[in-house]
Amino acid sequence: MKKQAPSNYQEYLKSEHWSETKENYYAKKGYECRICTSDKKLNLHHRQYSDKEGSILNREKNFHLYGLCSSCHSLWHNLYGDKKLTLKYIMRIRRLLEMGAVKKQAFCLVTQGEAYRNILKAIKSRNKTGTVVERLSP
Ligand SMILES: [Zn+2]
Ligand SMILES: [Zn+2]
Repeated sequence: MKKQAPSNYQEYLKSEHWSETKENYYAKKGYECRICTSDKKLNLHHRQYSDKEGSILNREKNFHLYGLCSSCHSLWHNLYGDKKLTLKYIMRIRRLLEMGAVKKQAFCLVTQGEAYRNILKAIKSRNKTGTVVERLSP
């Protein structure tokens, strides 16, 4: 499955179809970041660029997309490039943020199963200190 954005992607983002797709997505899914619930500077992230039938551009469904604020969106791509942002990772980041983790550290930890579980345990047992995330992160 092709994960990288196609070469004409920037052009596509200017198309009429894409702005309709965006409007439709936000109308149905709500105008907020799926990770941190911010409603500032939202981007629509493609979960994938193609499926069995080829490129999904011009025929995206809402489930191909995630609304993300520009901060969460660029953090993900800066850290992980084109790695697939799964619902599991989103739920993990949300959980860490809710427990007071620093955003960048929450993003760093979610793909590391064991480190993630350890940090969760540490936060739970010392939920008040606030510094535990910093001390324990790799
Ligand atoms: Zn966000
Ligand atoms: Zn993206």
